[in-house]
Amino acid sequence: MTNITDLGVKAIRDGVREGTFSAREVTEAFNANVAAGKQLNAFLVETPEHALAAADAADKARAAGEELAPMAGVPIGMKDLFCTEGVATTAASHILEGFTPQYESTVSANLWKAGAGMLGKLNMDQFAMGSSNETSAFGNVISPWRRNDGGNTDLAPGGSSGGSASAVSGRLCPAATGTDTGGSIRQPAAFVGISGIKPTYGRCSRWGVVAFASSLDQAGPMAHDVTDCAIMLQAMAGFDPKDATSLDLPVPDWESALSSDLKGKRVGIPKEYRIDGTPAEINELWDKGAEWLKDAGAEIVEISLPHTKYALPAYYIIAPAEASSNLARYDGVRYGTRELPDGAGLQDMYAATRAEGFGPEVKRRIMIGTYVLSAGFYDAYYTQAQKVRTLIARDFEAAWEHCDVILAPTAPSAAFGLGEKADDPLAMYLNDVFAVPASLAGLPAMSVPGGLDGQGLPLGLQIVGKALDEQSVLNAGLAIEQRAGFTARPDKWW
Ligand code: GLN
Repeated sequence: MTNITDLGVKAIRDGVREGTFSAREVTEAFNANVAAGKQLNAFLVETPEHALAAADAADKARAAGEELAPMAGVPIGMKDLFCTEGVATTAASHILEGFTPQYESTVSANLWKAGAGMLGKLNMDQFAMGSSNETSAFGNVISPWRRNDGGNTDLAPGGSSGGSASAVSGRLCPAATGTDTGGSIRQPAAFVGISGIKPTYGRCSRWGVVAFASSLDQAGPMAHDVTDCAIMLQAMAGFDPKDATSLDLPVPDWESALSSDLKGKRVGIPKEYRIDGTPAEINELWDKGAEWLKDAGAEIVEISLPHTKYALPAYYIIAPAEASSNLARYDGVRYGTRELPDGAGLQDMYAATRAEGFGPEVKRRIMIGTYVLSAGFYDAYYTQAQKVRTLIARDFEAAWEHCDVILAPTAPSAAFGLGEKADDPLAMYLNDVFAVPASLAGLPAMSVPGGLDGQGLPLGLQIVGKALDEQSVLNAGLAIEQRAGFTARPDKWW
């Protein structure tokens, strides 16, 4: 038999149901991989007993002849942006050190209700700000992948959900939660050769998720394949009265409706995504992706998203603006770290706590955000960026007259080496160029692995869909998955 830890969500769920193995066996195998995988620095907290308790509940339910919940027996990793009752939650920042939530985020609660258990809390970019995991206050996550040049350079797993990416591709967990504000599910999924979907804004509750940019933040699954993503997203999503932006709509049965037959579907190729400097291999994979979708029955059409080039600058105004407001709550009074120098007054405590607690990238964004929201510059920057956001959403609206989904690369490069972009914030921000338009428009978007580049590193293809049409996104993803035949795995060196 294959190694249990090579299995994904569906295979584990079905195997537990059929009695091929017990949920406890599965969880023990993953707990062992988590313990043996410390070099990847993917986990900030390990919670083997949480996962075992869920596994035992699944085994007991099966023994009693009860119907098993949709993810019964599947242990997962939880990005450390989700508050988990009684388990430390830091968003990978010193400022939240010592914070143990008294409550469970809605998304994690939904997953536990669906029978999943938690292997631990996953490292990430601090407050989800970053594309490489290097902004974590607890050391960067390392990708399990290596270039084929024998150099053994440590590679970025992408970000901000880099712990999730590294843990799934290194088989420390069969699937993990991620969050995506401007690409943080899709880009790390692409960097490590796994699948990940950001649903329509509002599908997953943001309640109990540490806020970065509230009008953009969405949770979603990261897993080995499209089917696993569909199963897990179904468990995560749903209306939540505790989140004012949560969509009061039933959760579709995405798994049952999965189909890679794309007859009658039109796939748009946005001409503005042909950006100078994109490596030829990425453009070639993009063309191949279009061929695969054509082979699945779809018609390929060229479309235009004319305001694409303004998406990145608009994102890097709106996201920091919202972050500067959201992060005002970390003041040394309510959560985690408190710096109280001798004789200090209240203002000194705020200043000292924030100076000590936030990392440099977080401070940069708070300063940018405060600046663009300040009285003298609000209209010039923030209002302007909001107008651009509307234009970008309208570009997509116009595109849907001509197509049902859009195909594009996920990121403009394969995984880069740790440190290679760390001192150049603009180069780092450019990595999000293909990801942020769908975020600004609140649309569902997914990355699926398409192939390897010349250095032996995974490249992802991105599918963007209409609001609420996750099904078409998943179906196009499945069509690519079936044709790409992506089976490459990182060699175990840790
Ligand atoms: N890399 C982007 C940023 O740094 C996106 C992050 C995210 O989606 N959380 O803002």
